[in-house]
Amino acid sequence: MVIGVALNFASEISGLAEPPKTPVLYIKPANTLTSHLSPVLHPDGIPAIQPGPSLAVVMARRARRVDRREAFDFVKGYTLFNDFSLKETSHFRPPVRTKCFDSFGPLGPAVISRDRVADPHDVTLRCRVNGELRQQGTTRDLVWKIPELIEHITTFLTLEEDDAIAVGVPPGRVDVVAGDRVTVEADELGSLTSQVVTELEFRESGTPLSAPKQPTFLALGLNYADHASELRFRAPEEPLLFLKAPGSLTGHDQVSCRPDGVEMMHYEGELVVVIGETASKVKRAEAMDYVHGYTIANDYAVRDYLENYYRPNLRVKSRDGLTPLGPRIVEKALVANPQALEIRTSVNGEIRQRGNTRDMVFDIPFLLEYVTSFMTLRPFDMISTGTPKGLSNVVPGDEVVVEIDGLGRLSNRIVSETEWRSLE
Ligand code: CA
Repeated sequence: MVIGVALNFASEISGLAEPPKTPVLYIKPANTLTSHLSPVLHPDGIPAIQPGPSLAVVMARRARRVDRREAFDFVKGYTLFNDFSLKETSHFRPPVRTKCFDSFGPLGPAVISRDRVADPHDVTLRCRVNGELRQQGTTRDLVWKIPELIEHITTFLTLEEDDAIAVGVPPGRVDVVAGDRVTVEADELGSLTSQVVTELEFRESGTPLSAPKQPTFLALGLNYADHASELRFRAPEEPLLFLKAPGSLTGHDQVSCRPDGVEMMHYEGELVVVIGETASKVKRAEAMDYVHGYTIANDYAVRDYLENYYRPNLRVKSRDGLTPLGPRIVEKALVANPQALEIRTSVNGEIRQRGNTRDMVFDIPFLLEYVTSFMTLRPFDMISTGTPKGLSNVVPGDEVVVEIDGLGRLSNRIVSETEWRSLE
């Protein structure tokens, strides 16, 4: 897993009326990750794409609740990352699509061990296009330094060996198009080169994406009009996707932690679509052929942590064990109509949320067509399709059950931070 950090250069946030209170984190999923000298896609119909030179910190071992003074003990070394992106017009809820096209995350070529980099906070990153220097920045200007990032992330999400944090892209992204050769380099870290190609060339190159270790889990904000109005949002015009770190998923009959001192943590009962076949550029009419089956998720959110940058900040929803999934995957042949299923969420036996999948703003075929227009989905990748109206606060001791017609009951108990830690 690669976690990116947006808005991490001082000059980028100095002009913001409301600068971020915490690091602005996002996930670069498996379909984006590629290697040195591999092609990078310039999608048809988009004027240009933008490279994003970054230093990436590679973890040496499992890291959980790391004190910043010990953070470097958890670092294996450093490498280069190129955070390709479409041009973003706003930092507020940009579509996940901007950064998640296939191949939009070249990484490497080598991890330079920690003791061979004198000072990771004094590395000059350069981006060359066809040999010409076009963008430059130094890690001296990072707002959140490496130990602070590791400390912050590991308060809520366990990092595993070889997970990487791309610490930020300096201001001044440039446009590139198919035919351009893009190199990110730093004296200490070598160079990472990508050839930008057209959609046709990309398909013909047949470059295998790196084999993902874990499935990609996509979730959807505001996909029921009644729920959007409950949160005082208008239903979106484009699906409001976000990604969940694999560590946030847990199973049936497990516990999830409510952090101490927060005011609002709520459940979100949701239908999950499980992919059965590799799917790229799927049309609506064939979309259901790529579905293996369905399951249930409880997409808990800790709302206290929601800031308006990106959607949502990982701390809200990508927390260790926060997302129960299950109790089993039901094959699609056993579900007559996935767009006519009642969803009920109860807390301590009392039904608090009730909705029907027929009320989705974007239905399953639409979502599959949309997602696969930029992201290749693979077997066991999942899309959680959003929650209906009826949110309420949950506290330690609460038993929360999400039930969907034909899919069973997904049960979970909320525990305090103290109990959570005693179970680790
Ligand atoms: Ca949700």
